[in-house]
Amino acid sequence: MSFKRDHYDAVVVGAGPNGLAAAITLSRKFPSVLLAEAKETVGGGTRSAELTLPGFVHDVCSAVQPLALSSPFFRTLDLHRYGLEWLQPEIPLAHPFRDGDALCLYRSLDATADGLGSDGGAYRKLIGLFVENHEKLLADALKPLPIPTHPFLMARFGVKALRSARNLAEETFRDWRTRALLAGLAAHAMIPLEKAATAAFGIVLAVLAHGVGWPVIRGGSQKLADALVACFMEGGGEIQTGITVGSMGDLPRADCYFFDVTPRQLLNIEGLGLSENYRGRLSRFRYGPGVCKVDWALGGPIPWKAEACRKAGTVHLGDSLEEIGASIRDAHEGRKCFAPYVVLAQQSLFDSSRAPAGRHTAWAYCHVPHGSPEDMTGIIEERIEHYAPGFRALILARNSMPAPAMERHNANYVGGDINGGVQDLHQLYSRPVLSLFPYRTSRKNVYICSSSTPPGGGVHGLCGFYAARGL
Ligand SMILES: Cc1cc2nc3c(=O)[nH]c(=O)nc-3n(C[C@H](O)[C@H](O)[C@H](O)COP(=O)(O)OP(=O)(O)OC[C@H]3O[C@@H](n4cnc5c(N)ncnc54)[C@H](O)[C@@H]3O)c2cc1C
Repeated sequence: MSFKRDHYDAVVVGAGPNGLAAAITLSRKFPSVLLAEAKETVGGGTRSAELTLPGFVHDVCSAVQPLALSSPFFRTLDLHRYGLEWLQPEIPLAHPFRDGDALCLYRSLDATADGLGSDGGAYRKLIGLFVENHEKLLADALKPLPIPTHPFLMARFGVKALRSARNLAEETFRDWRTRALLAGLAAHAMIPLEKAATAAFGIVLAVLAHGVGWPVIRGGSQKLADALVACFMEGGGEIQTGITVGSMGDLPRADCYFFDVTPRQLLNIEGLGLSENYRGRLSRFRYGPGVCKVDWALGGPIPWKAEACRKAGTVHLGDSLEEIGASIRDAHEGRKCFAPYVVLAQQSLFDSSRAPAGRHTAWAYCHVPHGSPEDMTGIIEERIEHYAPGFRALILARNSMPAPAMERHNANYVGGDINGGVQDLHQLYSRPVLSLFPYRTSRKNVYICSSSTPPGGGVHGLCGFYAARGL
């Protein structure tokens, strides 16, 4: 592989949102920054592609981008200058039930509380303060070290967030449906809902829905990666794709190296010279369950029984807190689940560029045991059919990605784990190892900056930004 220079100020390996964020941050400090990516396209978890039929654009990984929109780093980049356009679904989230009813998170906290009936007051009391102060809350919650800038607010948050989602739901809400709504939000943590701090995920996602919305990106999540690339190139950056780095010999000489990869991959890169002690600590990093992901090209919009679902960007399927909890536990404990909790997005309802006129796309995944080769497509489709009779008849084509296919698509999804490692209370701040500056490795000038570092999974670029800023 030939590079433009023999020597760079900085080299970043991996062009996911964190690698791109690190590269942009470094290019503001140094004149020569190289970004090397294994695949032929950039973006990592923000790629889009015609996975099913010509003219149908699917988000291969991430689809719903509240973390990107609220990211304190991305906000500084004015990404609309590079063509990025956020699209806000009329309803951020709908959670349907088998009787044809649904609960919703609307942009408006008041409308949401009104829709929750007798639990409306409790919902408002739970998150009202955090919604009012969402920018401060998110800036603190998404920081590498839990030393808050707004200690009073974070203390109030911590009291609720450190609880288990199950305990919070049962003690706060009387209606089993509101409990299911909170369980569906907290289940994004991919950790059993009885575990400490799973409530944090539920609260943060609800706050995001009211604070910034749960947007999708016009043209696909790839447009975010494209905008970040344009920003990097404008600052003089250089990108080389098609380089799977397996050894330091694959890279040119540089003053510092940043790796947007997870601990297991870092351990496999030859010539890094990591100390035995550090290698041992990295090898104890824990990965979580995987996902099985499906995309569909559809002949029309999904015929949901619940009217609200037809206006929602994201739909959570799970009949009760108990059912969602069992689904997460099964994946965590290595069992196949026959009634999995499903996350579904319907981007084309709000973005006509995703499918030919009158046609639609849908995107969904469920959790599976780590590395499970099980193709859950049939079970997911059956589940959608319950809430939307006639769904199956609309399918023109589908693309299924069980956990091993997810990992083949992107080596960072080890065993299909989309968060770059378990995000339980312990590993949330000790990713990849316990350290005051966890991005630093044992080798001078070699850093790790993927979602296996704080603040963890999701498209926000903050792992890359904090790693590169702290250099
Ligand atoms: C199915 C699915 C759905 C998701 N949904 C959402 C969502 O809706 N919203 C959200 O916020 N997040 C979502 N996520 C999570 C999100 O995509 C990730 O947390 C995020 O992309 C992590 O960013 P990253 O930069 O750390 O790594 P990645 O985005 O995974 O990028 C890593 C990059 O490094 C490259 N690479 C790896 N190894 C090497 C190597 N040896 N040499 C060179 N390059 C290498 C990879 O090819 C890849 O491009 C989802 C993920 C998946 C898989």
